[in-house]
Amino acid sequence: MDAMKFSETVKDAADLLKTAIPEMTQHKVPVNPYNYGIWYAYASGTYQGLNKELQQLLKAQGSITPQQTLDLYKKYIINDLLVVDKKLEDSYQSVMNSMSESANKTQQSTGDLEKQLAHSLKQLDDPGTQADLRTVINTIAEKTRLVSKNTQDFHHVLDDAQHEITRLKKELKEARAAAETDPLTKLYNRRHFDSSLSVAFADKDSSNSLALLLVDIDHFKQFNDNYGHLMGDLVLKAISQVLHDACEETHHIPCRFGGEEFAILMPKTTMREAKILAENTLKRIASLTLKDKKSGTSVSKVTASLGLSFAGPDDTELSLIDRADKALYKAKDNGRNQVVSL
Ligand code: GH3
Ligand code: MG
Ligand code: MG
Repeated sequence: MDAMKFSETVKDAADLLKTAIPEMTQHKVPVNPYNYGIWYAYASGTYQGLNKELQQLLKAQGSITPQQTLDLYKKYIINDLLVVDKKLEDSYQSVMNSMSESANKTQQSTGDLEKQLAHSLKQLDDPGTQADLRTVINTIAEKTRLVSKNTQDFHHVLDDAQHEITRLKKELKEARAAAETDPLTKLYNRRHFDSSLSVAFADKDSSNSLALLLVDIDHFKQFNDNYGHLMGDLVLKAISQVLHDACEETHHIPCRFGGEEFAILMPKTTMREAKILAENTLKRIASLTLKDKKSGTSVSKVTASLGLSFAGPDDTELSLIDRADKALYKAKDNGRNQVVSL
């Protein structure tokens, strides 16, 4: 469940519970995690689509089947949690279980109290039973205390659940970010590049189209051979920082394409803007100064070759990458340390 969509306070959550549970009882819906999740969301009005679908079902059938509940639950409540991992789903399920267990207790004791009140009123009304007023009141007081305790417990469970859901939400966000980030350079990885390219492609229009810049470090194998792999890694990080900075405050997407190759995806960009960014990036990479920490001496300059392509009406995702790749090889052929656009 998207915890941000359920950011009520404990008091609000308890109020929603008070609305949801009687409705569930009215429609003879058992309080289990799926049902509770659905009815809680229904009472909070968080998902308009859910409310509409549920109302339609209730109108047509008077109630809702377990399968329909499960379908709605998956569709509206946990669709994004399910795709990430089993562990998160299990934690979420355990939060929902403890909430529903406590909700059931509260529901049960409230029901008991209602029955007791009805019974006691009958006893007091009936002169034949000779009910002792003190005993009647004591019994009611005891049941009331139980309701009060269960309600209080439920508030605590809601409170805990809220914290747990916030924690799960954070974990989910981190797990997602990690799955799309390159660990060495902290840029987006190829997986993110691929999905962003699809989105950007679907979104492009003719004037503000989509540009793709590929960046490949020049003679990097030689650099590694001269200074070692660890120094090579530092170069990759430094160049990544240049790409990251070039994209700051824009909607461009800097990625590690693979090995010593990078890509910047520039959605909604003109060819002119893309060329300026490419030329600036070229200069910044060439002006990086790197020091060997051990000896304190500067290591040789690194340069990169850049290939730029701009999506036309007949392009596909693959043809856009292919043209940027061809441009990159042309830049290498022409002597490296330059931008070529095709
Ligand atoms: P060119 O100018 O034609 O691109 O030459 P190049 O040497 O850069 O190209 P080549 O494809 O022959 O070599 C790429 C090198 O990049 C080889 C590999 O060791 C290095 N490399 C790839 N990934 C990493 C990495 O994560 N860390 C380090 N240090 N080096 C890497
Ligand atoms: Mg390469
Ligand atoms: Mg290279």
